[in-house]
Amino acid sequence: MNGREIADFLDWEFLTADDELVIEARLPSGDDVVFDVERPEGETMGVDLEPPSIRRCANRCEFCFIEGLPKGMRKPLYIRDDDYRLSFAYGNFATLSNLKDRDFERILEYRLSPLYVSVHATPWEARKVLLNNPRVPDILAQLRRLAEGGIQFHAQMVIVPGLNDGDVLEQSLQDLWSFDDAVISVAMVPVGLTQFSHLYTGRTMDRATALPLLETSERWAERAIKERGHAWVYGSDELYLLARRELPPIEYYGDLPQIENGVGSVSALRARVRTHARELPWLGQLRIGVVTGTSMAPHMPELLDEISSATGAEFALIPTESSLFGPTTTTAGLLVGADIRRALGERKDLDLALIPAETINDAGVFLDDARFEDVRATFEFPVHPSYDFIDVLGEPEQFLRREAAIVAAR
Ligand code: SF4
Repeated sequence: MNGREIADFLDWEFLTADDELVIEARLPSGDDVVFDVERPEGETMGVDLEPPSIRRCANRCEFCFIEGLPKGMRKPLYIRDDDYRLSFAYGNFATLSNLKDRDFERILEYRLSPLYVSVHATPWEARKVLLNNPRVPDILAQLRRLAEGGIQFHAQMVIVPGLNDGDVLEQSLQDLWSFDDAVISVAMVPVGLTQFSHLYTGRTMDRATALPLLETSERWAERAIKERGHAWVYGSDELYLLARRELPPIEYYGDLPQIENGVGSVSALRARVRTHARELPWLGQLRIGVVTGTSMAPHMPELLDEISSATGAEFALIPTESSLFGPTTTTAGLLVGADIRRALGERKDLDLALIPAETINDAGVFLDDARFEDVRATFEFPVHPSYDFIDVLGEPEQFLRREAAIVAAR
């Protein structure tokens, strides 16, 4: 492309930004061909690229969620990606431990910012232990090199009790703070284990370990709000749920920089329900089952009461454990098709059920490979994936009519 070799989608994206392009290509036949392209302004190239080959992770963290997956799931779920390109493009967290000089040059040349970085700890020795990799580079030197070139970061710290809490955490926050506005946000996330986390030898996280972590994050956040105008460091929702502490209001999270990482999503849900419950249509005596994970269940009644008083609907909360990952995994998004069947299979008292939309992927498949369409077809009542209740209950005519037709046809 204009004399530069194309290695992947990043090169394609950045090197095709010009309107005049000379593309030298080798065809499958072996013939070389030169395309001289003048692109009308704003037109896309109309080219589909093959999916990129993913950069694999060189670490072996004891707490790795991939190592905690049961055997026999579909292959892509076992890919341990650690890819700065996906960090920039999709917000995947990367440790940067497999970065070569050429990668630094590309990040700086293409200004791949912000990057989402799994820092975990800044003291080098502690980070080697956490990533279970003695060859891991010094993250501070890496961040410095990139920050000097204008790159910004969102950082996450997966906290393993005894390894990166206490002094290591304090030092890490101090180091990240010293990067000034190059580090945009920091999330503290409790180590998440399943019954298959066979590598893990550390302590699990409980209320007693979660509470001091929140004290630390809130102390730093107080300073950040005073000096920088935003909280900067956030305990994840799971940390608050574990500590049985009230979650901060939505305003605390600013523009929700790490909502995809489970930071502020409960408060965002509450805010959405509060704002929109009154706009929902009257649903009469509709009996609605709500399937959720065990950690979120205690926080649901206040939301459901609010929707109930606005719509007249009655709600049945159905807290459900993950059969695939075991009782230590309490997150609603990790429920699988078998759990939904079990949770709703015996119910004769529902007109409609809502399940967490995060349980199915874009292709409509649960983590246990069950297809949503197959699962929903086993029930006499309609079942809908929902992110926040409002998304489904705001469209009652549509779902009632469509589902009535499906049920009648069965
Ligand atoms: S960095 Fe650690 S947690 Fe992430 S994929 Fe690699 S081994 Fe797993």
